[in-house]
Amino acid sequence: MSSDAKTTAAAVRLLIVEDGPRYLESTRLLLTPHIQKITTALTGAQALAQLARSNYDLILLDLRLPDSSGHELLAHLREQYPDSRVIVMSGDSRVDTVIHCIRLGAYDYLRKPCEPEELIKTVSNAAHKVQLERDNRRMLQQIDQSEQWHRLLINTSPDVIYTLDDNGHFTFLNESISRVLGYRPEDLVGHSYEALVPREELDNARYHLNERRTGDRSTRNVELRLNKAPGKNGGEATVTVEVSATGMYRPLADGTGEFLGTYGVARDISARKQAEATVTFQAYHDLLTGLPNRTLFNDRLGQAITQARRQTQALAVMFLDMDRFKVVNDTHGHLVGDGLLQAMAQRLRGSLREGDTLARIGGDEFMLLLPNIHTRDNATLIAEKVITSLKQPFHIDGMEIYSGMSIGIALFPDDGETREILIKHADLAMYHAKDHGRNDFRFFTHDLQHSLSGRLAVENDMRHALTRGEFEMYYQPQVDIQSQRIRGMEALIRWHHPERGLVAPNDFIPIAEECGLIAPISEWVLDVACKQAKAWRATGLEPISLGVNLSARQIEHPHFVDKFIQSLKDNGIDGQGIEIEITESTLMRDMDGAIEKLRRLADQGVEISIDDFGTGYSSLSYLRKLPVHTLKIDRSFIHDLAAPSSGSTIVAGITAMAKGLHLNVVAEGVETSAQLDYLKSIGCDAYQGYLFSRPVTARDATGLLQAH
Ligand code: C2E
Ligand code: MG
Ligand code: MG
Repeated sequence: MSSDAKTTAAAVRLLIVEDGPRYLESTRLLLTPHIQKITTALTGAQALAQLARSNYDLILLDLRLPDSSGHELLAHLREQYPDSRVIVMSGDSRVDTVIHCIRLGAYDYLRKPCEPEELIKTVSNAAHKVQLERDNRRMLQQIDQSEQWHRLLINTSPDVIYTLDDNGHFTFLNESISRVLGYRPEDLVGHSYEALVPREELDNARYHLNERRTGDRSTRNVELRLNKAPGKNGGEATVTVEVSATGMYRPLADGTGEFLGTYGVARDISARKQAEATVTFQAYHDLLTGLPNRTLFNDRLGQAITQARRQTQALAVMFLDMDRFKVVNDTHGHLVGDGLLQAMAQRLRGSLREGDTLARIGGDEFMLLLPNIHTRDNATLIAEKVITSLKQPFHIDGMEIYSGMSIGIALFPDDGETREILIKHADLAMYHAKDHGRNDFRFFTHDLQHSLSGRLAVENDMRHALTRGEFEMYYQPQVDIQSQRIRGMEALIRWHHPERGLVAPNDFIPIAEECGLIAPISEWVLDVACKQAKAWRATGLEPISLGVNLSARQIEHPHFVDKFIQSLKDNGIDGQGIEIEITESTLMRDMDGAIEKLRRLADQGVEISIDDFGTGYSSLSYLRKLPVHTLKIDRSFIHDLAAPSSGSTIVAGITAMAKGLHLNVVAEGVETSAQLDYLKSIGCDAYQGYLFSRPVTARDATGLLQAH
């Protein structure tokens, strides 16, 4: 017996059951060097008590005991303690007794009195066997555990793990396949992987998965799409996986290998792909309308230009800007505004052909690339089609909304040869279209280019104009028609541009509104006006009103009223004698806000007049809600008085209405005495115009006041 066996055998537990105390003791002594844990019992009852207390691997059992029949005890032990091996000792060496004992389950049989050698050998062998079995069991357990462990690793792997035989049939698949594709492993084992591959991917799959590869080329990462099991719910019918496949070979004596098949791991990367696709989409599209954005548009335009140049063809770029979008947004809210943009995008798309690109590049601005347009006439047709399509109202949120587009068109190569210039020129043409009565289109012309360079320069120069003191306030008298006395002055801003000379407000106020310079300019205007009003009061001249024009942006400013009042305070005057002029369209942008703000100003004694009356909405309903004092009839109506038809009707109508509402009426732009006579005849209160005086400097205005 090896020392190894001895040490392991020592861990075996032995119970000796023998009624002869001396025989029992000598047996114990004999076995002690070989079996370390030995317990003894003198009777069957003692033996059972020991067994109840602990487990024994071996029992050395004397068949003849005083308190029990050895055979019955043996049978009992085998039944109750099947894991304990019983070696029977008996003086009875008859064959049938031995056979009987073996039948009852004895492990071995020793004839009494035992030869010490034989006793030791029999017990040691039994102990060794116990030990071997025990080791075996442990090993099996370990194997079982490690098998379970590997199965667990493989099945809980998020990746699909598979093997293919040399014909490309699955021989193994882990359970991830059901999560990824919806098949159970047993559905696929024995079938070719090709069943999972969409037709258009087959070549790619065969090349990467079927090839018998060796050496460096044995593992590859390849992206493949796989079919989901029919009926597997949710989204796409395919899943994108990244597969890395390795050839499996059995080494051969000649150093080569026999191809057995492939082993592979497939990872589901659909979510990653989807996320990548979303990010890419978002980077190149406007999310509200789903249209391409400026970046994608620029890209496509670049390509189209390259192609057009190569084929010496033309193309058109259109810049589209929605008319009155801000009004819709302000009056109906952003949700309706968004709805309108979406509906607009939809309708515009309807006017286009395949290959055209429509992009949303800003709030209410769209761009259109028409690569298949070769003449001005073609472009005209499309623009007219768009304009016509917008004559029908949009239905949003149960409301009927009309919205037009102002369109500017630039053609490659005539109007520009690069993207930047084409877009700039289309933009410029669009502004031109806007100026000439909306929902219309204009082509770029080279004349416009000068106004463009003018526009950019204006913006730039305006930033310095305030600090350089280039603004000056002019004043134009308002004359009472009956008394011929000056009843007020309108403050009109002028800009002394170092190179361009005197610039009129219509040429820079709209730009100031767009680029945010209107706020500081307005503050300057108000401050100068207040100072002038105070100065005139101080001279002791007859009190007059001083009209100040307000821009829409200025009124929209949340602190507009506070700033206004502060400006009055800073200059030490009250609101009496200050008259603010606002246009109807300014009011309509935010009627409720405007009403509240104007009321607060009226409380300070400030008077309110509606400028350019008759050109805007001319809705009378708002007049009743507002603290209005004066209507200023737009000069276009006065101009039309010459042709004695529509103009006179309107002027007479406005005047009569104003009288009914107890409002003052001032006619603007009176240039002839004939006009003045007519105004006098219909009872108009006051007039303003070149007939009496052009707008003049503060000094000249003071002179006029003193003269009257
Ligand atoms: P508005 O308030 O309607 O001013 C009247 C405009 O008509 C002035 O033009 C004036 O010079 C012009 N005008 C006066 N009498 C006659 C006439 O007999 N015939 C003709 N053809 N025109 C006449 P202006 O000064 O060029 O101002 C244009 C507009 O710019 C103003 O229209 C006003 O809306 C705006 N504006 C002027 N000053 C300011 C300002 O300080 N702030 C703001 N926000 N806007 C201003
Ligand atoms: Mg005015
Ligand atoms: Mg006016």
